[in-house]
Amino acid sequence: MDYTEGEGWHSARIMPYQPITLDPSAMVFHYGQTVFEGMKAYVTATNEVLLFRPERNFQRLNHSNDRMCIPTINEAHALVALKELVQLDREWIPTAPGTSLYIRPFIIATEPYLGVAASKNYQFIIIMSPVGSYYKEGLNPVKILVEKQYVRAAKGGTGEAKTGGNYASSLKAAELASKEGYAQTLWLDSIENKYIEEVGSMNIFFKINGTVITPALNGSILPGITRDSILHMLHSQNIPVEERRISVDEVVEAYENGTLEEAFGTGTAAVISPIGEFKYGEQQILVNNNEIGLLTQSLYDKLTGIQNGTIEDTFDWTVI
Ligand code: PMP
Repeated sequence: MDYTEGEGWHSARIMPYQPITLDPSAMVFHYGQTVFEGMKAYVTATNEVLLFRPERNFQRLNHSNDRMCIPTINEAHALVALKELVQLDREWIPTAPGTSLYIRPFIIATEPYLGVAASKNYQFIIIMSPVGSYYKEGLNPVKILVEKQYVRAAKGGTGEAKTGGNYASSLKAAELASKEGYAQTLWLDSIENKYIEEVGSMNIFFKINGTVITPALNGSILPGITRDSILHMLHSQNIPVEERRISVDEVVEAYENGTLEEAFGTGTAAVISPIGEFKYGEQQILVNNNEIGLLTQSLYDKLTGIQNGTIEDTFDWTVI
């Protein structure tokens, strides 16, 4: 679908996957005006196609649009279009456990103009691709490097938006972490460099002394839909939960006094990823002897069960 100044969004169309043509001066290439989303569709045993809270993705897309000076989309229309698209691509949705159809809606600034300003024209595209299981050999705890030099998102910046630049700025740290054998980077706040924000492409949770703690949304953390779902699940199970600032020192202290029970990341790709180890400078923090915790496993089983239709969806999250 296209956006043209004066006309708004128009010309929605379905096309086979193919390259697109853009002017070399298209503003997205130069000034990074782009937003995106990521979601998944599953096929159930009774052959229904399930989307997981897709309305939340379109809401977040519009928040990102607002931050990036991109015109908003009609969320209700987008949802109808997505449901149609998914039905059309039904045969492409894999059925093996853990597999799904990955859906990537994105918007790019297409006006050919060399000058810093908001583009007058845009393209909104949704690509879909079958994806295999994130976990080939079961849930294995990952190692995370706490990033001390670089920050992902500054206060007042674009951290809360799902925009390409946030990911571009995180590549250097991710590359260095990967060279040292770490799966992802743990980002700290940009002001005091001590409060935990999130992991590369996941929000983060700690279980300390029976209470589950996750950093409160502060404008530089991406408001994850999996994060929100996990919070609802924890509340419904009456597990003590706190959304607040949490420093790395607090995690180190919990490790040292034996109260750091579990840690996990949440995001659409992995759903839940157990964390077995953090490295913070010279300090090594082991979590649950590098084994997946009981709560982490049960949240994973329950949430993936709801998503693929094997567990009753008491939250009304899945959409057919
Ligand atoms: N933080 C970042 C930076 C991410 O890219 C993602 C993945 N979208 C998340 C958190 C988790 O968000 P969600 O649960 O909506 O996938």
